[in-house]
Amino acid sequence: MNQEITIALAGNPNSGKTTIFNNMTGARQHVGNYSGVTVERKEGSLKHKDYDIKVIDLPGTYSLTAYSPDEVVARNVIIEEKPDVVVNVVDASNLERNLYLTTQLKELGVPVVVAMNMTDMAEARGMTFDYQLLSQLLGVEIVRTVGTKNMGTRELLDAVIKAASGRSEIPEKQVRYSNELEEEISNVQGLIAGKSTAAIEAAPCVDSLLSETSDYLNRWLALKLIENDKDVLKKIESLRGSEKILEQVEKSQDHLRKIVGEDPELLVVDGRYAFIRGACQEALTYTQEDRISITEKIDKILLNRVLGLPIFLGIMWLLFQLTFTIGSPPMEWIDSGFTVLGEWISNHMTEGLVQSLIVDGIIGGVGGVVIFLPNIILLFMGIAFLEDTGYMSRAAFVMDKIMHRVGLHGKSFIPMLIGFGCTIPAILATRTLENNRDRLVTMLVSPLMSCGARLPVYTLLIAAFFHESVAGNVLFSIYLIGIILALMMAKVLKKWVLPGESEPFVMELPAYRLPTLKSVLIHMWERSWLYLKKAGTIILAASIVLWMLFTFPMVDAQGNKIASPSLQMEQSYAGQVGHAIEPIIAPLGFDWRTGVALVAGFAAKEVVVSTMGTLYSIEDSEALADEEEGSVKSFADQAREQSGYTPLSAYVLMLFILIYVPCMATVGVLKRETNGWKWPAFMVGYTLVLAWVVCFVVYQGGLWLGIGV
Ligand code: GDP
Ligand code: MG
Repeated sequence: MNQEITIALAGNPNSGKTTIFNNMTGARQHVGNYSGVTVERKEGSLKHKDYDIKVIDLPGTYSLTAYSPDEVVARNVIIEEKPDVVVNVVDASNLERNLYLTTQLKELGVPVVVAMNMTDMAEARGMTFDYQLLSQLLGVEIVRTVGTKNMGTRELLDAVIKAASGRSEIPEKQVRYSNELEEEISNVQGLIAGKSTAAIEAAPCVDSLLSETSDYLNRWLALKLIENDKDVLKKIESLRGSEKILEQVEKSQDHLRKIVGEDPELLVVDGRYAFIRGACQEALTYTQEDRISITEKIDKILLNRVLGLPIFLGIMWLLFQLTFTIGSPPMEWIDSGFTVLGEWISNHMTEGLVQSLIVDGIIGGVGGVVIFLPNIILLFMGIAFLEDTGYMSRAAFVMDKIMHRVGLHGKSFIPMLIGFGCTIPAILATRTLENNRDRLVTMLVSPLMSCGARLPVYTLLIAAFFHESVAGNVLFSIYLIGIILALMMAKVLKKWVLPGESEPFVMELPAYRLPTLKSVLIHMWERSWLYLKKAGTIILAASIVLWMLFTFPMVDAQGNKIASPSLQMEQSYAGQVGHAIEPIIAPLGFDWRTGVALVAGFAAKEVVVSTMGTLYSIEDSEALADEEEGSVKSFADQAREQSGYTPLSAYVLMLFILIYVPCMATVGVLKRETNGWKWPAFMVGYTLVLAWVVCFVVYQGGLWLGIGV
């Protein structure tokens, strides 16, 4: 008994569908109309191996939106008649445009085999294809055909049988849209998935979709709704209880329009072309210059094998320079603003615990963090600008080769880059990585990219212990060590902890465009807001808790008030914790006070500064009193005089702060993203061990060599 297979031929007009149909079926065909519409329907049949194959020739379409009856027919045949395989005939000489339909077919969740037709013409025009890579990138079997010469027909049928019986070895791929769009898709998709069982008795077409409860089709429906697809919209509307879904769709569309400033429909189109362009950039080479677009011309330079990396590094360097030069003046304004506020409160409140809590605890703690807001905002603005122009995707492309050495993809580099601002948005940005192992590794190493919160600590320590002429280099070396450690850890994790082959995937290359000010500002604001929120919540709470730990107990074991503030500090709860961990950190050159600051730094790295501030300003009131009338010293000077650090131990402290546990908020986000405590615990553990080992080596090595002591 022969097995039966139904296949549908889909493709752009003039891609050679009819030619291939005739090659397959010979003359055995039957012409009629599609049910309900006067669009010609041609059907034929053939035998291949042990299979009876029925072939439906779909009308030629560029797309599967519901704009023309042809498109609706093609789509409904695929959804309702459920062919076992869709054979997508593609005109290889016009590949990018033709693959647009392919991405849409894939989204419908049917097995697709691509017939790369007209390859004779394409090759004559100087195009060379890496079929294997292309098929991996797109997640479809690809067979090379020349319709007019009946070439590749048998191979095509072989591939069809393989796909129909689910024996294809090609890993599944889907277009990934921009983060914003993906988020909205999953919002709508979630509601549709919830509906699918309740909606069985409604409209037949959508019904058969919903009853599948397939993630694919739910995703497809969500996407279509966001795209404003009239046909799908009508069908969903007829479902009972669809108001919630439609409400969400409208909300999603509004959100997208607001932040991206473009119609959701266009966003979807852009996303597909970015995916296709990325795939073609890798798998298609032109030996002859054909008409090339502006985007391709720019890419010729920015993705150049030799120039690509230097250009990328240059742009990054510029970004950091701008961030810090433009950021300095507003930082000083904020700084003096907080100082004035603190003084004003000191003058208008009676001295005592409450005043100390407000001035030393809250203003000191939160102020020390808010000061760095200009830097953070500028960095995020720069990154948002680069993302919106489309350059960031090119950076990922350029970094791809290097990232491959450590077992990751270029795509992992963007979250790492965002990690320079703040690790939380970095971890969220890993959602673009489709491979879970890669995603986890990227999340785990992202805290090693030195975040903005650590900058205050570096700035303070560098100002205090290093000459101005080397300050920039010292700072750069810390960032660099972070990057190197991140890459090394990625390699280690990929090798020992999360082993597995990585598969090629498309790196989307969206068309270049001038970003709108609005979209850059919104992107920037969303990320900066996370930072500010942290300052307002976690850091505020940490500052208050720390202030209490430093202030109490106010009496010694005998119940006497402790006379000197520095003695009081040392006997406070915080001081006791610091003393307890002193033996562990002593080999790194740290004393109990550093221990206190480091423990506090778990709340947020910025708190290391405010803690040191508290440590030293409390002592300072005593020191100041001794000096001639109120010579207020800079924070850095105080730190240098009172910490007893050497340049070496200051450097080691920076290293430790770079590497050891990410902040509480990061651990919390990682827990949410990985659904459990296992990976957050691992992250905390490995960073602590790594920090200790690196610092031990550097400190002891430095002592031995006599550097910076
Ligand atoms: P359809 O519109 O997709 O059904 O395309 P047709 O099958 O009608 O083909 C359109 C034109 O392309 C016809 O003139 C075919 O002879 C020609 N054609 C089909 N396949 C090939 C091929 O592989 N190479 C070349 N050079 N021409 C082809
Ligand atoms: Mg035709």
